[in-house]
Amino acid sequence: MSNVNEETLKKLVEMLAETVDDEIACEECFEHLDKFVDMYLSGEDPIKVMPLVQHHLDMCNCCHEDFLGLVRAMQNGDPET
Ligand SMILES: [Zn+2]
Repeated sequence: MSNVNEETLKKLVEMLAETVDDEIACEECFEHLDKFVDMYLSGEDPIKVMPLVQHHLDMCNCCHEDFLGLVRAMQNGDPET
């Protein structure tokens, strides 16, 4: 699929926009992810504060991977990653 024209792309974006509604995108999820993990690791309840992030993690495999990676990194005491 290297030959996608703009019209098709626009339709696809519109379709996606309708499905996501109040869901968040990967970028937005990633912006909150370190805070989310931080709260998670300190025994707080990030799901209450950021339900959409949790929702996204449930649905998005690659962000879930990022989440697990961050948890691992923070547990190893590496504050810069
Ligand atoms: Zn994602």
